[in-house]
Amino acid sequence: TRTPVNVTVTGAAGQIGYALLCRIASGHLLGPDVPVKLRLLEITPALGAAQGTAMELDDCAFPLLRGIDITDDPNVAFDGANVALLVGARPRTKGMERGDLLEANGGIFKPQGRAINDHAADDIKVLVVGNPANTNALIAQAAAPDVPAERFTAMTRLDHNRAISQLAAKTGAAVSDIKRLTIWGNHSATQYPDIFHAEIAGKNAAELIGDEAWLADAFIPTVAKRGAAIIEARGASSAASAANAAIDHVHTWVNGTADGDWTSMGIPSDGSYGVPEGLISSFPVTTKDGAYEIVQGLDINEFSRPRIDASVQELAEERDAVRALGLI
Ligand code: NDP
Repeated sequence: TRTPVNVTVTGAAGQIGYALLCRIASGHLLGPDVPVKLRLLEITPALGAAQGTAMELDDCAFPLLRGIDITDDPNVAFDGANVALLVGARPRTKGMERGDLLEANGGIFKPQGRAINDHAADDIKVLVVGNPANTNALIAQAAAPDVPAERFTAMTRLDHNRAISQLAAKTGAAVSDIKRLTIWGNHSATQYPDIFHAEIAGKNAAELIGDEAWLADAFIPTVAKRGAAIIEARGASSAASAANAAIDHVHTWVNGTADGDWTSMGIPSDGSYGVPEGLISSFPVTTKDGAYEIVQGLDINEFSRPRIDASVQELAEERDAVRALGLI
């Protein structure tokens, strides 16, 4: 039988954690034949709630779940970790300045990056979900100099999935007919969902729709503001769809993209498409055998260029701010 894969989840007692853990334990993260051991990291006051979630996981009697450890110590949580989902983060509260937010998250992601550096398995793969996800990933990565930089990624898969869903609704196509969509830049309101290379049942999506005003005034803002629309409707932030996107991100990273398709991931830039090297920005990527590659050679038109640049500019400003705070 296979050795279990160690999966560490931070913020395990939160909303996203609650929606995520059952799906990891039931085999949706890594595959239906891969046993997993869960490590739940929480802040001390939330350990009891994490224990409650673990009791529910026990009660599911998942055949693939080989153990659950709960801790408030990152050095324990990341010991031997093969996959780390960094979900817990400091949310922005009323009246909080951006610098305060970045500093509070530095206090979380820097020690976690250090613990990953010192204790994780050699094949560790990290996905940062907690916001500001791209910059939190940069902080963790900077604290883990012995781990290859490309193992630190940030989630833009929810934006990617939201964009596919909006395109399907607009055209009446099936979600499974939509391919090669790209989210560029930051997981924030400046993100740019690009349909100029996307295909709907084999036809170019932008040509099929043929309406740049719809793109600029409906599609892009709807995708970017979907999180706020869900809070408004549900009275709580999206958790099931965020957890689902985290599952998709890791599953695709580990198991590969389909031939002829790609996905979107926040990854350290190698300078492609004019994105400064080192920024953790969303790109179109293909994955194979647990590694990813940026899709090269796409033509970036006049509609897309300033939108990508604006989101990348925001990432550069966030990086400069955490650098000034001594967090990277
Ligand atoms: P959620 O589980 O709802 O969200 C967790 C993080 O994911 C937030 O930063 C949130 O950002 C982010 N996120 C990313 N995408 C989305 C999305 N589409 N919708 C909603 N959130 C998204 O938060 P909870 O407050 O329920 O839970 C957080 C948990 O983390 C708590 O249990 C807390 O104790 C724990 N925590 C653990 C830490 C640790 O392990 N060391 C450190 C800090 C917190 P946004 O704020 O923008 O919604």
